[in-house]
Amino acid sequence: MNSLKNLFENQQAVLADGAMGTSLFEAGLQFGDPPDLWNILHPDRVRAIQRRYIEAGSQIILTNTFGGTRFRLKLHKLDGRVHELNQAGAENLRAEVRASGKPVLVAGDIGPSGEIMAPLGDLTFDAAVDGFAEQAAGLAAGGVDLFWIETMSDLDEVRAAIEGARRAAPQLPIVCTLSFDTHGCTMMGVTPETAAKFMRDQGLFAGGGNCGNGSDEMLEVVRRMHAAEPELIVVAKSNAGMPVLVKGKAVYQATPDEMGEFAVRARALGARLIGGCCGNNQNHIQAMATRLQDTEYEPQAPAAAGAAPAPAKKAPVQRVNRRRAT
Ligand SMILES: [Zn+2]
Repeated sequence: MNSLKNLFENQQAVLADGAMGTSLFEAGLQFGDPPDLWNILHPDRVRAIQRRYIEAGSQIILTNTFGGTRFRLKLHKLDGRVHELNQAGAENLRAEVRASGKPVLVAGDIGPSGEIMAPLGDLTFDAAVDGFAEQAAGLAAGGVDLFWIETMSDLDEVRAAIEGARRAAPQLPIVCTLSFDTHGCTMMGVTPETAAKFMRDQGLFAGGGNCGNGSDEMLEVVRRMHAAEPELIVVAKSNAGMPVLVKGKAVYQATPDEMGEFAVRARALGARLIGGCCGNNQNHIQAMATRLQDTEYEPQAPAAAGAAPAPAKKAPVQRVNRRRAT
């Protein structure tokens, strides 16, 4: 906890990493392959992605364990290997950080179960807690500094993930980000204000948004969360714009310069932990690092949000499924 706290004492904004999923596809992962298995099959390739984020200036990096619950691994008949795959994911990143000699923190990535919670769906709260606790125990055994629960839509599922993480390793701080991808709310209708209050009530270290529909909508999420809970450390990990399909592949169009600009604007609106989600690579993170360093911090009052982005234009692009890869 102290090292995480210390990071925020000396600077207004801390830099996280960019995408893992889209980077894995570039490294040869095939659609439908279980990314978490690469912690065992290709640790070198996973570590190479993380090394580039360290070199670009990321101060907190996520493990390659987004799909590491039994619920998702079951789809690949890997649900008997939850502990092993998560521990390996944490150990790989820990080794890469050690080799860099930099004080980068290792965040154990916990993604959504992919199931719908009862009573709407089949996943009971207790079963969800058990599943998340099992993943968190593997991550803790591999030596993570914190847990990062991400791309969530349903606060019941988040509550289960928090309870599971605390059961496995009560001493570790928790960061949580939701995906506000549906008219400014999550798919399950959670507003930024409700999310911010929930995260404060739960005693999380930090909370905010990841993924979503590009940086303009993310800036609005930041503004609203910060206005609702000024004491919350707000997180902004935006996709590199909206994906378009090019020859069957999702291509994200925001340039490193644009994401550098996003980082500065997110900081001005109150975000203190900033990074990229789908479509961001080390060049985007490098641009964010440079712009955050070279631009003076000038807070923008929430009331002055007229200067904040207008609601995102409806771009005539084909939506692609982003939930599999962050
Ligand atoms: Zn994403």
